[in-house]
Amino acid sequence: MRSAAVVLVFALSHAITAQTPTFFHNVRVFDGERALPARDVLVQDGKIARIGTGLTAPPNATVIDGAGKTLLPGLIDAHTHAWGDALTTALAFGVTTELEMFGDTSAARDRRAEQRTGRASSRADLLSAGTLVTVKGGHGTEYGSTIPTLTSPRDAQAFVDARIGEGSDYVKIVYDDGQTYGSTWPTLTPEMLHATVAAAHARGKLALVHIGALSGARTAIDAGADGLAHLFVDRAPEPDFGTFVASHHAFVVPTLTVLKSITGVGGAAPLADDPRFSAYLTRQEVLMMKQAFPRGPGMPAVDYAFAEAAVKQLRAAHVPILAGTDAGNPGTAHGAALHRELELLVNAGLTPTEALAAATSIPAKTFHLGDRGRIADGMRADLLLISGDPTSDITATRDIAGVWKQGVAFDRARLAASVTAEVVAQGQAPAGSESGLVSDFDDGTTTTRFGSGWSISNDAMAGGKSTAEMIVVEGGAEGSAKSLAVRGTISDAFKQAWAGAMFSPGRQVFQPANLGAKKEIRFWAKGDGKTYRVFVFAQSKGFTPLTQPFVADAAWKEYVFPLATFNGIDGHDIMAVIFGGGPSPGSFAFQIDHVSFR
Ligand SMILES: [Zn+2]
Repeated sequence: MRSAAVVLVFALSHAITAQTPTFFHNVRVFDGERALPARDVLVQDGKIARIGTGLTAPPNATVIDGAGKTLLPGLIDAHTHAWGDALTTALAFGVTTELEMFGDTSAARDRRAEQRTGRASSRADLLSAGTLVTVKGGHGTEYGSTIPTLTSPRDAQAFVDARIGEGSDYVKIVYDDGQTYGSTWPTLTPEMLHATVAAAHARGKLALVHIGALSGARTAIDAGADGLAHLFVDRAPEPDFGTFVASHHAFVVPTLTVLKSITGVGGAAPLADDPRFSAYLTRQEVLMMKQAFPRGPGMPAVDYAFAEAAVKQLRAAHVPILAGTDAGNPGTAHGAALHRELELLVNAGLTPTEALAAATSIPAKTFHLGDRGRIADGMRADLLLISGDPTSDITATRDIAGVWKQGVAFDRARLAASVTAEVVAQGQAPAGSESGLVSDFDDGTTTTRFGSGWSISNDAMAGGKSTAEMIVVEGGAEGSAKSLAVRGTISDAFKQAWAGAMFSPGRQVFQPANLGAKKEIRFWAKGDGKTYRVFVFAQSKGFTPLTQPFVADAAWKEYVFPLATFNGIDGHDIMAVIFGGGPSPGSFAFQIDHVSFR
């Protein structure tokens, strides 16, 4: 054990000390606050070693010609939710630090451990609020995983201390009763909000408040919030809104990108097909960027112009404005969406230089990240090189010439190659799908012949409370050995309730697969006599489920649904198939067998 540890320490220190210096020659520098013409910048051992004019490159340095280019501090996205590969995607677009506002505490713990080694050069750094502060049934509890909730102002300190114990770098509080979305969610009382902010401050932590409406924003600022995690689109700000926030010395992360999505248009959608971006975006990410939050006819009116009006007031009142996207939500993508946020901030009245500061020096200063957000001697060499001059045209940030994390160049070409390989793989039928059989369950497992297997799907992600379980049982269709039993309870918490067993034909859950050679879905079923549904998701139809009903009686029966009956799809982009109960509430039980595409 000891010798292995010694070798590891040697390898680590070797990797750090052996970094080849990088010399940017004659490059325009945006230093986090202002533009400096024609500088030389030397990067050594992960840091900015020197910045000046007429410098000489060390003999072993990689020299980069900066003519016509601009060097920026790596961007900081001040509002994200970093699941899966998010931090790698973010880095590809020059976002070198993400400030997560609710996420998986154990994933954040792993990221912090990696960051402490100084070797997290293949993904953006993560700081995280960990689990947010909300109440039972409140916003933040609808995503399927059970989280602790606050019950009384008296518990606020213990609650906040528990989050800090889990590693939270700051405290994120939800103060939103859902009115903007035509819903009624329970939320903190003003007393709980005050107590939670005070509890964060007692431990020296920043308290950020998610709000969904203007009234909530004012209450949060009155409660002593350090910052707002969103602006609002429900009402025009009163004329004193900017000076009110300024007088409380609070900062604001407007998240204009996601506010666009809330008003019904994918916030980052205009960038999804930009050739400068699309080579680095998976089809899933492109699809996500084009999504918006659904706005039904019964929902209250909202107007994006209200958020722009608030930004104008905040700027005039010198309130610190931080660029944040709420990446992880419809109409966003990690990294890419921050370039849209910069553009939206400029559209709302910031100068390009102010917008760039909102994504570099201002969040670094606000979150006490003294080692980044600026290009100056001794700062981390988290860098973004742009072809062109974003300090005069903000959309120039899309012309990325290079990204460095702690002095290590990010391999954008490799990411582009893996994205291309994925697109090609999606164009071919999945390996193992030749016969079309998905599962006959006869080996006693939920193994599938192709794709990424069976999993449970329910309406928790949409705010519902329906549950399901699946188990391989004795006795199958046509006298076969086994079949899959699916049972559960449909709750009345959500109108479009569902729960059931889901099969994803792609290499990952919900990754589209090409089953264009198949014409129909076939399966056998029996059950308690209730009506069930086959839900099909095709990428070309977004995340809208395409459904067909079937009645599962006591005797086994075969069901055949031509793919075209699912809103005319041709099978080339199937993301998932669900066999499920709902929407009528109550318990359900059915069995399926011999599931296949033919
Ligand atoms: Zn968020």
